[in-house]
Amino acid sequence: MIITLKSTATEQEINDLRSKLEAQGLTIHPSQGTHYHILGLIGDTSSVDLRQIESLNSVSKVTRIQEPFKKANRKFHPDDTVVNVGGVLIGGGHFAVMAGPCSVETPEQVLETAKACKAAGATILRGGAFKPRTSPYSFQGMGPEGLELLELAKKETGLPIVSEVMDISQLQYFDNVDMLQIGARNMQNFNLLKEVGKLNKPVLLKRGLSATYEEWLMAAEYIMSEGNEQIVLCERGIRTFEPKTRNTLDVTAIPMMHELSHLPIIMDPSHAAGMSRMVRPLSLASVGGGADGLMIEVHNDPAKALCDGPQALRPDQFTSLMKEINALRTALVEATK
Ligand code: PEP
Ligand code: MN
Repeated sequence: MIITLKSTATEQEINDLRSKLEAQGLTIHPSQGTHYHILGLIGDTSSVDLRQIESLNSVSKVTRIQEPFKKANRKFHPDDTVVNVGGVLIGGGHFAVMAGPCSVETPEQVLETAKACKAAGATILRGGAFKPRTSPYSFQGMGPEGLELLELAKKETGLPIVSEVMDISQLQYFDNVDMLQIGARNMQNFNLLKEVGKLNKPVLLKRGLSATYEEWLMAAEYIMSEGNEQIVLCERGIRTFEPKTRNTLDVTAIPMMHELSHLPIIMDPSHAAGMSRMVRPLSLASVGGGADGLMIEVHNDPAKALCDGPQALRPDQFTSLMKEINALRTALVEATK
């Protein structure tokens, strides 16, 4: 971290600042020229409050050299992290497809959809029992009963399951769920992040609706700092100025996250566009862009879905998309041989 001082900074102000930083265990390397005076900070600056220093009378600018995320940072962990979800690997060349309904609705709906997803080649079953809806009047999910139905579908198909937990109080129901999903709206629910950080269970961390890459990785850092390093990032579309689609899928997040972090990143084309006809092109763009997997909403009867029907694929559409995804992945491997 580099602190650029104002030319008007007094010796007293500079000494006060230096003592304060030294008390935090940092070493200060000052450098003074005719037109500048800077302080270089050496040591762990992750707990230094950049904005507080920047607000001082004597300071003109504070520049971070290192990213504030440490455990999620590729610099300190060059190898790809491979996350194991009930035997299914994600990351480091392992590609996983999570598929299933937005929300669990009936035993028939979950079982029928789960079987179709498995037959098409999905490796993890998704389904929401606790739903974060924009309106309090919309279907809020089946709750614990929904998780029981997912467990039944897991027994029938052998697919591990991923489901969203919205609140710490719900964690008691997730013992048999293989992966905890933290939804976009909860990406900065820091108490929830810390709590799942204490568990020995993989976490799917969705990107917040308008979160920067750094905010997203700092959310991962919250989980990792409590001990749980089994995290898969999920880009699900961000809020932009474009009203034609529900969100905008940020494909740039794939290479950028691979550069910044060792954590796997998967893409959710369903919530990105909010339209089933966009799921195919966005899935293929994600595979081409190097994603470690996909999360796709599939419903046995999308027209009757209680949540996110317009973006759900029918089983036959998902089956043909899986063929294309596999063909594209094979072609990419062949091309780089
Ligand atoms: C979901 O996966 O159904 C969901 C609510 O996702 P998001 O948090 O990305 O909106
Ligand atoms: Mn959904």
